[in-house]
This record gives sequence, structure tokens and C-alpha cells, in this order.
Amino acid sequence: MTSVPTDPNRPSTPPVVVAVDGTSGSGKSSTCRAVADRLGLRYLDTGAMYRAVTWWMLDNDVDVHDAGAVAARAGAPDLVSGTDPLQPTIAVDGVDVSVEIRSDAVNAAVSPVSAVPAVRERLVALQRDLIGTGGIVVEGRDIGSVVWPQAEVKVYLTADPAARAARRAAENGGADLTATQESLLARDAIDSSRATAPLTRVDGAVHIDSTHRTLDEVVGLVVDLVDAVRSSSGAS
Ligand code: C5P
Repeated sequence: MTSVPTDPNRPSTPPVVVAVDGTSGSGKSSTCRAVADRLGLRYLDTGAMYRAVTWWMLDNDVDVHDAGAVAARAGAPDLVSGTDPLQPTIAVDGVDVSVEIRSDAVNAAVSPVSAVPAVRERLVALQRDLIGTGGIVVEGRDIGSVVWPQAEVKVYLTADPAARAARRAAENGGADLTATQESLLARDAIDSSRATAPLTRVDGAVHIDSTHRTLDEVVGLVVDLVDAVRSSSGAS
């Protein structure tokens, strides 16, 4: 990703929390990293945390379709998330798993693991600690609804399934388009229908459809939302 330098003339303002929720593959990561970089904010990928727990369950032979077994081990993995938007990291038990968490095996298992309340309870607590006093862009499924409902800026980012699959397949070096779309839609279905913290657009979230917009355009829209909040809070 190209680094956009933080504008030195931008007035210093109180820490803001930008919550970006939305469907799989809608461009959340690229958007959030670029927004954080441009505004000099930290960045938290909560999806990477759910993926890391899922990777750990698979690596430790826990049956990911047995909610009781997953819940019993939910507290075991030690997780550390790095919040630099130019170099986000995720470590489990001291080992960086940024690459491993993008595997097909993790893609297939992450939604069932994420639906387990004990997993969510633990990760939400870690996420709230990391958000702390703010100054951060956070992406996920339940940030505006559960993790940080008081976020100053809330965005709900979506795109047509075909566009999402095309982007994700290109990112993965030309992976099969049909299989990629099926995998995204399967995750959406579980994420939107689970009992605990389902993916939903909350009141106050601005819906941005990225289907026919470039990354720069989407980033510009989110930066404008942050600027509007900052100037209305009288901080400039
Ligand atoms: O954002 P990403 O696609 O990497 O997220 C992977 C999975 O993690 C999602 O499909 C969802 O099951 C889970 N997730 C979640 N809540 C979040 C972030 C991700 O349940 N806040």
C-alpha cells in the first residue's frame, strides 16, 4: 500500500474512534489502513483476531464445529495485535501468523468459531483495551453495534458479491472466482444470522457501497466524515 503522509497542517484534535463494519471483501482493510495512515491514527483489524483464534483452534486439533470445545479453549491463545496501519501484525503465543490466518482452512472455519459467545466475549474485551482512549480506525462486524457503540464515526461498507469476489481473488493471486464468491457468501450468511453480535447496519452508520468506487474515493468519503465530526466538535 502506498503511504499517504499525514498532513502537517491538519489541526490537532481529540482522539476519534472510526468504526467500520461490513461484509467480507467489501474493502474494509484497504480503506481503514489508508484512512488511518492519512489521518495519523492507529488501525485495528478485529477480523485478524478472530482468524488468529481460529488458526490456533485448528493448530491445536480443536473441533471448530463443536461450540463447547471451542468455548472451553477460548481463553488459551495469547494474542498480540500490532496497530500500525502500514504494518499491521497479529501474533499468537509469540509467533506472527499474519500469513497463516489467510488460508482456505481458516476462511472455512472462522465464522463458526466467531459465533461462539466465549470467543466474542474475550476478543471484545481485548479490542476495548486496544481502543483505549481512541485515535484509531477499527474494522469488523460488530464495532459500531457492540465493541464501541460510542464511536464518533460509524461506517457500514458493502459491495456487490461479484465485485467483492473479484477483488479478493485478485488479492489472492487469481484464486478461483466462483469458489471465492461462495466462500464470501457463506461467511456473510453465518456472520449475519448468528445469535451473538450479528453483522448489521446500526443507526447512525453511514452506508458506503464500494462497488463502483475506487479505493481513493471510498477513503476520501471516510476522511470527510472524520473531518466533519472533528470540526463539529469544535476541536479545530
Ligand atoms: O474481516 P475478516 O473477513 O477478516 O473477518 C473474518 C471473520 O471474522 C468474519 O467472517 C467473521 O466471522 C469474524 N469477525 C467477527 N467480528 C468481527 C470481525 C470479524 O465475527 N468484529
